Amino acid sequence: MTASSATIISCASCGKVLDDRTPHSTCPDCDGMLDITPATPLVRGTALAQLFDGRLGIHGARGSAASQSGVWRFRELVLQTDDDSIVSHPEGNTPVIHRRSVSQYAGVDSLRMKHEGHNPTGSFKDRGMTVAITQARRCGATAIACASTGNTSSSLASYAAHAGIPALVLVPSGRISMGKLAQTVAYGARTLLVRGDFDDCLRLVRESARSLGVYLGNSLNPFRIEGQKTIIFELLQQCGWIAPDWIALPAGNLGNTSAFGKALSEAHQLGLIDRIPRLLCVQANGAAPFALGFAERFATRHQVRAETIATAIRIGDPASWDRGVAAIRVTNGIVIAVSDDEITAAKSAIDASGVGCEPASAASVAGVRALVSQGVIKPHENVVAILTGHVLKDPEGSIGSGTSSRPRPNAPIEIDADLASVERVLRNSGKS
Ligand SMILES: *Cc1c(COP(=O)(O)O)cnc(C)c1O
Ligand SMILES: [Zn+2]
Repeated sequence: MTASSATIISCASCGKVLDDRTPHSTCPDCDGMLDITPATPLVRGTALAQLFDGRLGIHGARGSAASQSGVWRFRELVLQTDDDSIVSHPEGNTPVIHRRSVSQYAGVDSLRMKHEGHNPTGSFKDRGMTVAITQARRCGATAIACASTGNTSSSLASYAAHAGIPALVLVPSGRISMGKLAQTVAYGARTLLVRGDFDDCLRLVRESARSLGVYLGNSLNPFRIEGQKTIIFELLQQCGWIAPDWIALPAGNLGNTSAFGKALSEAHQLGLIDRIPRLLCVQANGAAPFALGFAERFATRHQVRAETIATAIRIGDPASWDRGVAAIRVTNGIVIAVSDDEITAAKSAIDASGVGCEPASAASVAGVRALVSQGVIKPHENVVAILTGHVLKDPEGSIGSGTSSRPRPNAPIEIDADLASVERVLRNSGKS
């Protein structure tokens, strides 16, 4: 192992220190959020970067899943544990993509998109889940549960199946996309359709975890955050350890925002980067409690009844509020809200470039475009937008038959089964 000391887990509210195999996801004394301080690596700066770089390219069937994982590549900063306990598909190793058309749409010279939809279950949630389920196994959990808008449940169901631990999932009835529900059921989770919204599901699962003793897999769980930090570590590695100026991401429950803030401040403290990029958190107008808070310097904690087409960020009472505020402060970040029409338009631009993403992911690009037009982001600046989920996650949102207001120019056309009909369509679309 290349680290001294050990992982420290402590309560952010009362300071209680817990064993590193704790079965608790929040403080057993006061229900406060738990903080993880990774063991201090024995090396830092260039030597640490070289350690991580030296693990690139370990692929092929011979290595363990963990040795091929874009999460466990950074294990010194994630969780100290032996290889056998790790539950990995593997995950991570997601591409950084550039498309001229999307840069033009956003209004910057060169926009890079890190596509987390390339993870095994199609969203970044896998990066947190490999660590949370590894911890569930380490503490001997007999069942694991989560509330979800769909991607957490898909990921939890998949990793729990891999670990052989029964999974319980609570999702808002009628408000989860078909792709995500299909995955969750296919991977074998006991799935409850709750008559309520995500915030109701989260309250219910927290109560269940407390009174029924199941392991909580939501991003309240600090091990999720430790795993999601690797989106940033891997991105920095792909940038040759040169920090971009801006990193844009969609923000819902603020787990990812928290992870990004923590990762950037750790990377800076360890000398992996010499300056901290600014975070741009993007919410949907109809689900923007964090943007409301930002506008008044976080004087109060806001809650709203959330409504937006971007189901993954349809959250009115973000659980990781305090950690999210800390992330904005440490990165000199900005929080804005964009309309559903702006999200849909950005998604169309990303989809039409051949890249594709789910609606919530497009909020990041919509946010960049908005800040460029306000003059806050300069066109020559180095901007990375995180695409959080795969285009197949939300088929209704892509074809336009669902909640989207904008008809697609290439909406599917039904025809008779003859060549003349094909010809007629080609002739008409050629003219338009
Ligand atoms: C979970 C999720 C988000 C929001 O992340 P939070 O950690 O809840 O802020 C955004 N996009 C997608 C695709 C997600 O699955
Ligand atoms: Zn406590």
